[in-house]
This record gives sequence, structure tokens and C-alpha cells, in this order.
Amino acid sequence: MGVLAAVALVAVAALAACESDSGTGGTASVRAVASLEIFADMVRNVGGERVSVKALLPSGADPHTYELPPNRVADIAKADVVFINGLGLEASIQDVIDSNADGGAIVLSEGLPVLRGDQTLAEDGETGGNPHMWLDARLGAKYVERIRDALIAQDPAGQAVYEANATAYLEQLGSVDREMEAAVQSIPPERRKLVTFHDAYPYLAARYGLEVVGVLVPSPGQEPSVQDVARLAETIRDEGVPAVYTEPEFNSDVLEAAADEAGARVLDLLSDAYADGVHSYVELMRYDLQQLQEGLGGS
Ligand SMILES: [Zn+2]
Repeated sequence: MGVLAAVALVAVAALAACESDSGTGGTASVRAVASLEIFADMVRNVGGERVSVKALLPSGADPHTYELPPNRVADIAKADVVFINGLGLEASIQDVIDSNADGGAIVLSEGLPVLRGDQTLAEDGETGGNPHMWLDARLGAKYVERIRDALIAQDPAGQAVYEANATAYLEQLGSVDREMEAAVQSIPPERRKLVTFHDAYPYLAARYGLEVVGVLVPSPGQEPSVQDVARLAETIRDEGVPAVYTEPEFNSDVLEAAADEAGARVLDLLSDAYADGVHSYVELMRYDLQQLQEGLGGS
């Protein structure tokens, strides 16, 4: 293609983009929404300026129990493409998404190997599998590939852009994956044990070689009983767990009490939501990496 033809094509594409987005003032070709900020960040990395994306949940919200305000419902109805995790992560907003997403939502976890909370593989079609796949950076990369393919299907004119952006971003995720692997390898094997607030880490544990030995609650919204807390304190002591992990979006008092009783340190890990100073999926993974090294590392 000659330079002039290319310039002409770009001009036409820009014009088309303006027309399709008239009224919003933006220049994006595709309007996307994603359930979590984490997935919106992935969409932003792949879509660049061709895609405007909004997260349905605020960055510090707990997806397991969140209820959407009405203005977010309108965002779903207006979107060209809607991305959700699936596996029940968005259970509390699933009905609203189903009834407002034109053509249904793209489910990022679809077709990927599902783990139960105990890190064993779920059977095909089994319900109740653990939703937190993105905390294994290789599975996070699968989400990104699905996002790329969905954006290309929605906006074929952007294919080259989406492919180039995705390739660069996937390289970053590959680095994060190797850094996380090396970080866990540097932890003495007998200390590679996880105790966390909710059951968010079976994929991270399975991929990088940690063992989930205890969680305070399987899923947020459940109240641990006095016996649950006592049992968890016993596990922390018996397993010699050096540190337990709270999550900033949840009240950590009970977990801290259990850790205190067992003489373990308390740090925090991120899973579904961002925290201070963490505003992207890559930053979230690096934050967790640093917390794991800090809490479980031998030195
Ligand atoms: Zn969760």
C-alpha cells in the first residue's frame, strides 16, 4: 500500500471512529466495560486509544458482594463489548449484566482449567470452581489473548493495533510470571505456605509452588465462627506458617487475632481489588510478589 493510500485509510478510520462515538466527545472506536479494574486495565493495554473502557466496580470494591448503582447499569447497556471473569465471581451482578449486555458478556475464564479451593482440578461442568485465575500470570495472559480476539472481532479495522499492543503487553506479563516464579523459588520450601482472608489464591499457589494451608472464609460475605478462627490459629501454629495475609478490602481483625494467637506476622495480599499505590494488574502482581517474599522469605 502506498503512503498516500495509507494516510487516506487512517483518515477514513478516524472519521468513522468519530461518527460512531458522536455525542460522547471521545475518539475511541469501541466502548467496553469490564467487571473489575484489573480486567479494565488489560482491556486498556490491548485496546489503546481505539477502546474506551470503564470498570463496573470501583477499584477497592469486593466483587463477591458488590451491587451495581444504576449509572453503571446504563454503561453495560451502552457498551459494545462487556468482559467478565465468570465462575461466579460476579454472582451478585450477573443478572444485571445478563439482562443489559447486548449479545451477552465475554467470559474471560471460559475454557481454562478450573481449580477447586484445594488446588485440585475441577471436573468438566462442575460448579463452584474457584474464580481467581488471573493471579497465575500465565492464565492472566490467556485473558489478554481473549480480550485481543474479542476486540478484533468487534473492530476488525484495529486488528494490527490490537495485535501489536497485546504482543507487547504479553511480554510484560511473561516477565511478571518469571519474577514471581523466581521469588517463590527463593523462599525455603518449608515456608511456602499460604494463609489468607478469602480463598483467592489456589491458582497462584499451584502455578508458583505454594500450598494454601488455610483461609478464614471460603468467600467474602461469610462470617467465620469462633471455632473457625480457633481452628485456623491451630493450623497456623501446627504448620509453622511464618506470616498470614489479610486483604485491604476486608476487615482483618479476626484474621489478625488468629495470627496473633499463633505467633505469625500479618501482611497483606491483593486479589480482586487494588490498594494504595497499586493501579494496574502488573503492579498488583508485583505487590503480591514483594509481600510473599517479605512474609515467607527465609532471611
Ligand atoms: Zn475473590
